[in-house]
Amino acid sequence: MPFPMVQELLGSLFKKPNTNPFPAAQLPPTVTGLLEKVGKGEAALNPPVPVPERLRGKMTYVRETCIGCKLCIKVCPAHAIDFVESTKKVRIFVSQCIQCGQCTEICPKQCLALSGEFLNASHDRYADELVVD
Ligand code: SF4
Ligand code: SF4
Repeated sequence: MPFPMVQELLGSLFKKPNTNPFPAAQLPPTVTGLLEKVGKGEAALNPPVPVPERLRGKMTYVRETCIGCKLCIKVCPAHAIDFVESTKKVRIFVSQCIQCGQCTEICPKQCLALSGEFLNASHDRYADELVVD
């Protein structure tokens, strides 16, 4: 092994990790077990690092100001938005959204935006928290 590599390897033993130890400071035996404990108040999650300004996270939607013009649907390359005829409003499927931001730019009422929320994983792509309406 070349000397610089050995130096790097040994040096890393004494450095702090570059990654954020999330969700727990120490690797739990199981993440499911940890989350159950968190639910019962027996453990706490290590907070994630502050998100950078203008991070493209989960969509937000101000339903009250939406005029139902459907422009957002026309520009969405991921077909992540659909129109609900009965209410004349839209709904956004977060699991399909690729955070391109095109809908936020075209919306004439500025009722769509990309938030800093990035924890959007779920076993169910149609879970309530993954459908913004
Ligand atoms: S950010 Fe892009 S992919 Fe997501 S809903 Fe808007 S247009 Fe579609
Ligand atoms: S572009 Fe804006 S106002 Fe038009 S339907 Fe979409 S969210 Fe509503």
